[in-house]
Amino acid sequence: MNLGDTILITGAGGFIGGHLVGHLLSQGYTRIRAVDIKDADEWYQFFPQVENHQRDLRLREHCQEMAAGADHVFNLACDMGGMGFIETHKAECMLSVLINTNMLLAARDQGATRFLFSSSACVYAADKQTSAEVQPLRESDAYPAMPEDGYGWEKLFSERMCRHFSEDFGLITRVVRYHNVYGPNGTYDGGREKAPAAICRKVIQAKRSGIHEIEIWGDGEQTRSFMYIDDCLYGTLRIMTGDYADPLNLGSDQLVTINQLVDIVEDIAGITLKRRYKLDAPKGVRGRNSDNTLISQVLGWAPDVRLEDGLERTYRWIHDEMARTGCQPPRTFTAKAAE
Ligand code: NAD
Repeated sequence: MNLGDTILITGAGGFIGGHLVGHLLSQGYTRIRAVDIKDADEWYQFFPQVENHQRDLRLREHCQEMAAGADHVFNLACDMGGMGFIETHKAECMLSVLINTNMLLAARDQGATRFLFSSSACVYAADKQTSAEVQPLRESDAYPAMPEDGYGWEKLFSERMCRHFSEDFGLITRVVRYHNVYGPNGTYDGGREKAPAAICRKVIQAKRSGIHEIEIWGDGEQTRSFMYIDDCLYGTLRIMTGDYADPLNLGSDQLVTINQLVDIVEDIAGITLKRRYKLDAPKGVRGRNSDNTLISQVLGWAPDVRLEDGLERTYRWIHDEMARTGCQPPRTFTAKAAE
């Protein structure tokens, strides 16, 4: 990508999109177009020096308008959240297919050079994730397909659309399969938050309230890996500008149980809490880790920020936000029906 190219970032009001805008600005890119459905005052990060637009990208005409003149499209817009959201909003998650379809068509019609699709580890087949001591997931483990119901099926379908837009229309596409990204400037309350931010918030609330208890979803022995946002940005740009065309894992391979995640946050906070396990809460698969063999071969690099270090920064940010807002949950985004 050249510094003067026009770069479209959809979902720029969200967690990864906001960081990507900030990162590209810091690298010297001058023509950034940032788009999100939310009001500007709900964006996690807002940079007045770039072109900012509020549009509903489920609508074809909005996608065409936003893609006009764009050289590179980072398609991060999606109606999503953590397990608590995607297990209870399957149809809404699947409607993101409108965003992905219309953005791909717009990138093709408007002559974009490259298109990046933000896929997810939720595309992986459920029967390969039934044990906490999970084998790390290789890219080929997405097939035979049995992804997360709703959200995962939409991601897998859109991945294949990218492939066929390349084959049939010559649009260069790149697909990143993100595994649990976390960091400052993201959702930590309101129902869409993911485990690292939710646990930081709960620990801070326990500390502030003096009620030294924490609710954990499931038995806490389910395993995951979590990638810090700096690794996510670096990997996303390397994949977008690189030659590898098939889907690639972009995630940490530092596997932890949710109980170990709580241990780390307790250490950061300097507190020990009594744990209450909510066994009927949404838990997702039993175990999930990223196999980073392929990304290491392709890029000579894999995510390597230690969970302890990334969580420290994330905890500090959530702590300061909660102090600043008086612990009021942030305004939550509700997608209006597409017209
Ligand atoms: P996010 O929810 O913070 O950001 C997504 C943004 O898309 C939101 O700001 C939302 O308002 C916007 N959006 C939703 N519908 C829209 C519409 N119709 N038109 C325009 N904008 C719309 O999510 P994120 O964590 O930044 O994730 C970005 C992408 O990465 C998503 O595609 C997500 O599925 C994928 N992903 C993220 C993770 C993760 O752990 N954060 C993991 C796997 C995949």
